[in-house]
Amino acid sequence: MEEIAFGRFGLAAMAHRPGVLGFPERTPQVVKYALSYLFAQSEFGLLCPVNMTDSCARMLGAFGSEELKARYLPHLTATDPDTLWQGTQWMTERTGGSDVGASTTVARQDADGQWRLWGDKWFTSVANAELALTLARPEGAPAGTRGLAMFLVPKHLPDGSKNAWTINRLKDKLGSRSMATGEVTYAGARAWVVGDLGSGFKQMMEMVNGSRLSNAMRAAGLMRRALLESLVHARQRVAFGQPLIELPLLRSNLLGMLLDAEAAAAVILNGAALLDRREAGSAEARALARVWTPLAKYWITLRARDVTAEAMNVRGGNGYVEEWVNPRLLRDAYLGAIWEGSANVVALDVQRAIVKDRGLEVLAAFVGERLARVAEPAAKPLVDLARAGLESVTRQCAGWAARPAAERELAARPVADTLYHLLAGSLLLAEGQALREQGHGFRKLLSAGLYLRRWLEPRGPASPPLTARQVEWLEPLAQWRPIDESALADLEA
Ligand SMILES: Cc1cc2nc3c(=O)[nH]c(=O)nc-3n(C[C@H](O)[C@H](O)[C@H](O)COP(=O)(O)OP(=O)(O)OC[C@H]3O[C@@H](n4cnc5c(N)ncnc54)[C@H](O)[C@@H]3O)c2cc1C
Repeated sequence: MEEIAFGRFGLAAMAHRPGVLGFPERTPQVVKYALSYLFAQSEFGLLCPVNMTDSCARMLGAFGSEELKARYLPHLTATDPDTLWQGTQWMTERTGGSDVGASTTVARQDADGQWRLWGDKWFTSVANAELALTLARPEGAPAGTRGLAMFLVPKHLPDGSKNAWTINRLKDKLGSRSMATGEVTYAGARAWVVGDLGSGFKQMMEMVNGSRLSNAMRAAGLMRRALLESLVHARQRVAFGQPLIELPLLRSNLLGMLLDAEAAAAVILNGAALLDRREAGSAEARALARVWTPLAKYWITLRARDVTAEAMNVRGGNGYVEEWVNPRLLRDAYLGAIWEGSANVVALDVQRAIVKDRGLEVLAAFVGERLARVAEPAAKPLVDLARAGLESVTRQCAGWAARPAAERELAARPVADTLYHLLAGSLLLAEGQALREQGHGFRKLLSAGLYLRRWLEPRGPASPPLTARQVEWLEPLAQWRPIDESALADLEA
C-alpha cells in the first residue's frame, strides 16, 4: 500500500513538484484530495504518513532555510521508495495535546550555535519517519504557545549517524493499526530551527489546519466504504422474506448514510478546491478556509463514527466479527475526532474563527452565493429552509464577542452542527442546479433536498427524520438511476 500511495500515485509528492502522474505543473489539491479519498476507502492508517510527509514538505517549503530545503525536500517529495523519507509532526506531550502551550520540551543552543532538544513527546505517529517537525521551547523563551519554536529533527544526522532520540515504546491503539504511533524521548537531539523562532506554534497551526481537512477527507472515505459495504450486504441478505434493503426502517438507515457520505464528499472536494484558490493568492479563499477546515473536521470525523457503527449493524452479527471490514472501519473512524484537535477543541476553533476572523460573515456570504445559484422552482422551499437556518444561526452568534466565555462556549457545538449542514446543503443544491442545467436530471437536487430536510427541518422529538415516500428513493440514488422532476414533490413532507 505504501508503494501505491507514495510511489505509483505520488500522493505525498504531487502538490509539491511537477511531473507526478504526468501533470506538467504541481498537481491541484482537488486532484490529490479526490485520489486520497479513493485510497481512504481501502486503507485509512497509511494516509497519516502520506499526509504528514506532504505537510512536512509544505512547512519546509514555506518556512525552511535554503539549506534544509536542499537537503530534505527531494527526499520528502520522492516517489522512489529507495530515496523517499517520510515526515511527521510531533507536538503532543504528557501535559496535553489540546493545551500545546503547556509543552515542556526544551531547546538549548550549544556554544557553536547548534540546537539540541531535551524532553518527551507522548504521541508520535509515523514513529518510523526519517524527519519530524516538532515544537520545543528555547531556554528563556516565554511560557505558553508564544514561546514555542518549530524544529526539524532528523532520525539521522547529515554524517549518517543516529540522532539522539529514542522510541520508548509503541502504543497499543484501538485503530489505525497499520501505522505505528510511539512515545519518544529527545536526549539532546540535534535540531534545526524552521521559520521564525517566535512563531513555531503559529506555523504549526497552519500545518494542522491543512491536516484537518485531510482528516475530514479520510473520515469521508470511511463513510463511503461503510455505505458501499452496507448496500451490497442489504441487497442480498434476506430477512422476513425480503432483502434487507426492502425493509423501510433499514432503508432509512441506509439513506441517512448515503446522504451523509455524499454531503461529506462535497465539503471535502470543494474544500480542496478552496485550498487551490488560497494557494493562488485569493484572500477570500484564505478567510473561508480558516473556518471551513475546522468545521469539516468537526462534523465529518464525528459523523464517521455513527456511519461506520450503522454499517456494523447492517451486517448484523457478522459486522462484529474481525473477518469483515466493519470492526476496522469503526476503530479507524474513532480516531478522527480525537487527534489534531478533538471535537470540542475544533468546535471552539470554529467559534474563534467567527469571533476573531469574520468566519460567519465569509461563510454566510459563500452559502448565500451558492443558494442564489438555485433557479429550479421546485427547489425554492429548500433554498428558503437554508436561508431561514442561516438567519437563525446569525442571530445566535450576534454579540458572541461580548458574552462570557462560559456561556458562549456552550453554543460552539450546536452552532457548528448547523453551519456544517448549511455549508453541505448549499454545496449540494448548487451542484444539483448545475447538473440539472447540464442535462443530468434531478438526482443531486433530490439528495440535496433530502439532506436539508433531514438535518435542518424543525420537527418534534419523536418524528422520523425521513418519510416513507422519501426512503423509497434510496436505490435510485445509490445506483445513480435517472431521476426526474417529479421526485422533488416527495421533499414536501
Ligand atoms: C493514535 C493517535 C496518534 C496520535 N499521533 C500524534 C502525533 O503524531 N503527533 C502529535 O502531536 N499528537 C498526536 N496525537 C495526539 C492527539 O493530537 C491528542 O491526543 C489530542 O489532541 C488530544 O489531546 P490529549 O490527548 O492531551 O487530550 P486533552 O487535551 O487532555 O483533552 C481531553 C478532552 O478534553 C477536551 N478539551 C480540551 N480542551 C477543552 C476545552 N477548552 N473545552 C472543552 N473541552 C476541551 C478535549 O476535547 C478532549 O475531549 C495522537 C493521538 C492518537 C490517539
